[in-house]
Amino acid sequence: MSMNTQGRPSAPTEAGGTAAHETFTGNKALQMEEALIFEIGRNDVCGVDLEEPEDFVPALGGHARRAELDLPALTEPEAMRHYVRLSSKNYAIDAGLYPLGSCTMKHNPRLNEKMARLPGFADVHPLQPRSTVTGAVEMIAELAHWLVTLTGMEAVAMSPKAGAHGELCGMMAIKAAHTAAGRDPKVVLVPESAHGTNPATAALLGYKVVSIEAREDGTVDTQAVQDRIAEHAGNVAGIMLTNPNTCGLFERDIIAIAEAIHAADGYFYCDGANFNAIVGKARPGDLGVDAMHINLHKTFSTPHGGGGPGSGPVVLSERLAPFAPLPFLRKGPDGPEWIESEAELQDGEQPFGRMTAFHGQMGMYVRALAYMKSHGADGLRQASEDAVLNANYVRVGLEDLMSLPFGSRWCMHEVLFDDSFLKDTGVTTLDFAKAMIDEGYHPMTMYFPLVVHGAMLIEPTESESRAALDLFIATMRDLVMSAQRGETGRFKGAPFHAPRARLDETRAARKPVLKWQRPAASEVQPQAAE
Ligand SMILES: *Cc1c(COP(=O)(O)O)cnc(C)c1O
Repeated sequence: MSMNTQGRPSAPTEAGGTAAHETFTGNKALQMEEALIFEIGRNDVCGVDLEEPEDFVPALGGHARRAELDLPALTEPEAMRHYVRLSSKNYAIDAGLYPLGSCTMKHNPRLNEKMARLPGFADVHPLQPRSTVTGAVEMIAELAHWLVTLTGMEAVAMSPKAGAHGELCGMMAIKAAHTAAGRDPKVVLVPESAHGTNPATAALLGYKVVSIEAREDGTVDTQAVQDRIAEHAGNVAGIMLTNPNTCGLFERDIIAIAEAIHAADGYFYCDGANFNAIVGKARPGDLGVDAMHINLHKTFSTPHGGGGPGSGPVVLSERLAPFAPLPFLRKGPDGPEWIESEAELQDGEQPFGRMTAFHGQMGMYVRALAYMKSHGADGLRQASEDAVLNANYVRVGLEDLMSLPFGSRWCMHEVLFDDSFLKDTGVTTLDFAKAMIDEGYHPMTMYFPLVVHGAMLIEPTESESRAALDLFIATMRDLVMSAQRGETGRFKGAPFHAPRARLDETRAARKPVLKWQRPAASEVQPQAAE
């Protein structure tokens, strides 16, 4: 078939040349191929009728552009189709089950969207005078109140814009507290199973990351923590621990670990990405946590994964609260006061600086608070219980066929399998995940955490019905049995039904092509197929 330089068909050839199951257009039934807007756009059309401008003299002097602007333009129907087709290419929680472990891909209630679009929330400007946004500030204060209440903590820094940003904020508060006490410890302890952002955060702040190996049962051993503390006596700034951990297990010795780190003058940073398992059941403040980020976009249902910005407020213990960054909220006699600058500080307030120019992600705040208020305290607790129940339902439905690295025991809101059930089948975790795409499922989290071989971390969340879980379990069982029967063909080239199959991810990362080049005029002429 004739192709232009973008690999798109240009004209049929006499000899034909469309292989079996390939289509001339590249479309697969009603799944449309979509060219880049630069390829289909041109500059002689316009989607709207504009009045001819009257004569005017630009104030740009000699700086006015002389060359053609060369932006791609489309007619209105073309523009509609282009963006509607693009919008249908993104797999989303609104389209199907999204069992991505550690990501809490739960349903985003539409009520949240309605609230976030209310004028007064949707159209506030960060530079508006404070007197005109008292309602918005009140809303943020109410969300902050829910966050400190649910976590049993003293204060919350609202501005961080995602989990990783929250980690940075919490660790900067810890660093500031050490500095204020005249200490300069250099070591941060991080368990092996930690999310990559934990050691990255510590390293970014100049800390040496000391790893703590996992116990046989996938949890952190207090003795191992004590041993590392002893090895680095007097030099431990803190520990970064996830609970429930990334193996989907509750760290039972968390209080003893907190006590050990506090006895060494260190702080306990908890990665709160997995908070969805324990909301309303356990309060991190009661477990000895000093700082913890909360991914509003995971636990509290604000959209994420190509769906919108994150938000990662950080709750702080009494000892760290004074170091919360600007801007912050202070309880005043007439309601919450928004403290913007050093000039407004009172005794004892020692912000370490600021994380963001403004106040954070307003739309995410509204959505998270709408979620909390529509559930109520009892509803939030039930959501956690259902999330844990659903993960265990998946575990029990698959554990006879797939392999649990830490044995058959209750998991929290996600269940971790390793790849030993694929041993000698010739099918890898990656192949298995690609075959799931053919079945219409977004794959689970793969190869994370690193502590188990070929990890598959499945988090169904509480929003899935029993019927949806039954179909998912049946599909997974079919795939496992197929792999074990030696049907490698179903896996090795998968996905077969997706518009694109296996991408060269390494090359894409190492040699990214970030700029579209207009092909030379001669190249777009039909060429004979080889
Ligand atoms: C998602 C996640 C993070 C990072 O959160 P972002 O909002 O993506 O920056 C950190 N730790 C764990 C365990 C996570 O699952």
